[in-house]
Amino acid sequence: MSKNKVQFQVGYSLIDLVKHYGTEEQCRQALFNWRWPMGYYCSECGCDKYCFLKSRKLYQCHKCHHQASLISGTIFEQTKLPLTTWFLGIYLVTQSKTGVSALALKREIGVSYNTAWSMKHKIMQVMKERDDSKSLSGVIQLDDAYWGGERHGGKRGRGSKNKVPFVAAISLNEEGHPIAMNMNVVKGFRLTEVSRWAKRHLQPQSTVLSDGLPCFSAVSDAHCYHISIVTGGGFQSVTKKEFTWINTMIGNVKNAITGTYHAINPRHLPRYLAEFCYRHNRRFQLEEMIPRFCYIALRTPPMPGRLLKLAEGYG
Ligand SMILES: [Zn+2]
Repeated sequence: MSKNKVQFQVGYSLIDLVKHYGTEEQCRQALFNWRWPMGYYCSECGCDKYCFLKSRKLYQCHKCHHQASLISGTIFEQTKLPLTTWFLGIYLVTQSKTGVSALALKREIGVSYNTAWSMKHKIMQVMKERDDSKSLSGVIQLDDAYWGGERHGGKRGRGSKNKVPFVAAISLNEEGHPIAMNMNVVKGFRLTEVSRWAKRHLQPQSTVLSDGLPCFSAVSDAHCYHISIVTGGGFQSVTKKEFTWINTMIGNVKNAITGTYHAINPRHLPRYLAEFCYRHNRRFQLEEMIPRFCYIALRTPPMPGRLLKLAEGYG
């Protein structure tokens, strides 16, 4: 990768991918450097003297003889796929603007549907854990959103069946343009839920703009300053200029999920939301996307299939 920062990103082509990560050895070397930038050390005893058992591709500690592979203890653990297939999958999912379904991934990388589904969800899990660990700061627009229901004309959707509520938040720069966004499924729009969410996802001293929904005042529990702009709710609230960005983003994410996946299992909505936020938040860093993603993936614990299929927790 070039060390010079390119001001206007030209993206990262498939040719670049093949050039950098086209062989197993290139992928292994890259993962090793991202996992152990200071050189290998034993995860059991911390010793940095080891030998590499070539036939089994294992690192063995000199002191305690603990054996580890390049991917053990990471989201890639126990994969049977070549690393080049993983890199191609990561490339497709992170570089696509609107997302890649498991079905499309299956066709592109030549694996079974189940394998593609599992790879897709592991990649999304990494994205989710990454963005969950970063909180928003500065000026933030906040809104309540729902998956699986429209709020046009009717009530705000609160309490409706079959709708999954999620908090949408977006931080803005001084020009009022979006910097980062975060969307998390919540149990409902109640003071306790918003308080719990805010403590996890907002930095203290942030300024939070929301409409008049009373539960949003709970952001003060996270030491944020709250400004409530009463819009009267309903469809007309989307026309208020204060909420232009947040409403645009909620619309974009819903359209992208519907357009790419047609139907999703609502229990995995947290991961789909995270996927879109992750890509949006890094849309100017396409060239660095693979190293940055893999760095986090190597620090994301394994996720066996049965865990992957369970409903995710609330953000
Ligand atoms: Zn050891």
